[in-house]
Amino acid sequence: MSRITRRPSFLTVPAFAKINLGIEVLGSRQDGYHELRTLFQTISLHDDIELRRRRAPGVVLRCEHPLIPRDETNLAVRAARDLMRHAGLPGGVEIRLTKRIPVAGGLGGGSSDAAAVLMALDRLFELDLGPARLHAFARRLGADVPFFLLGGTALGLGRGDEVYPLEKQLRAEVVVIDMGRPVSTAAVFRRLGAQLTLKENGYTIFRFVSSDWGDRASFRILTNELERSALEEAPDLADTVRRVRRILVGEGALFAGMSGSGSSCFGLFIERAAARRAVKATRAAGFAAHRGRTVTLGGFRRTWSLRFGR
Ligand code: ATP
Repeated sequence: MSRITRRPSFLTVPAFAKINLGIEVLGSRQDGYHELRTLFQTISLHDDIELRRRRAPGVVLRCEHPLIPRDETNLAVRAARDLMRHAGLPGGVEIRLTKRIPVAGGLGGGSSDAAAVLMALDRLFELDLGPARLHAFARRLGADVPFFLLGGTALGLGRGDEVYPLEKQLRAEVVVIDMGRPVSTAAVFRRLGAQLTLKENGYTIFRFVSSDWGDRASFRILTNELERSALEEAPDLADTVRRVRRILVGEGALFAGMSGSGSSCFGLFIERAAARRAVKATRAAGFAAHRGRTVTLGGFRRTWSLRFGR
């Protein structure tokens, strides 16, 4: 395999969004988190991250988005600080973040930015850590961060930070609806805590992955067990979510759901033409819609290897 020998002084990388095809909440844990089983999927909607070496020490973030913090509360900054400190890297870095993933929309934007920064620093400084050794940094930053070291269609266990890519990868058109309403993930999980009852869950993800994924019936098995709490947290969204779902399904979506703890919704389509119609219809109803595709494990790896020659 070829490797870049010349050290570049800057890199531009995409940070893909994710959707959760399904989420099962299995119980609460000693550490205060919930035990989850989720099916993650990267999609082509992405932020852009440019990393540039600086002589002066420290991490500087530039981002024009009004909702994005530029201090160390930004996960991308924390990721860079942690790794640079640990690896004893000389000088500093500047991070330019172009935000396209809706903020606090259940699409994992902050987590993906953090993972992309870890992987880009790994390449920029030729540390050769790879996902296996970046995993510990990723876990410390947040439960969803490890998934973004691998991408594709993957099972998430534990807090969602134990990630196992599936052999079979989902190839579909995706329409994402930005509901324009941030929902706090922490608040949704807090609500869940109060109402959680021990149950023998239905193994919906097992049943889904062992089906052929080809029709509505297989997708109908999937559930998002955070949705109820998300709509209790944001009751103003209940009607709009129902409307969006109706439009997506009406335009032929194989599956339409809410991602993570909300508020973004998505539809999966086989036909590009149907996805285009769904975008038109949701926009006509006053929603902000984005059309893209799923990014498979192979597609995710190709993106990184094409950029860096390995
Ligand atoms: P999660 O479920 O992991 O909270 P999410 O997709 O719902 O993910 P994010 O877009 O990651 O939400 O943002 C959650 C909060 O994190 C925001 O309120 C924002 O202030 C903060 N944040 C910190 N760093 C970032 C970042 N790089 N991009 C977006 N938000 C960030």
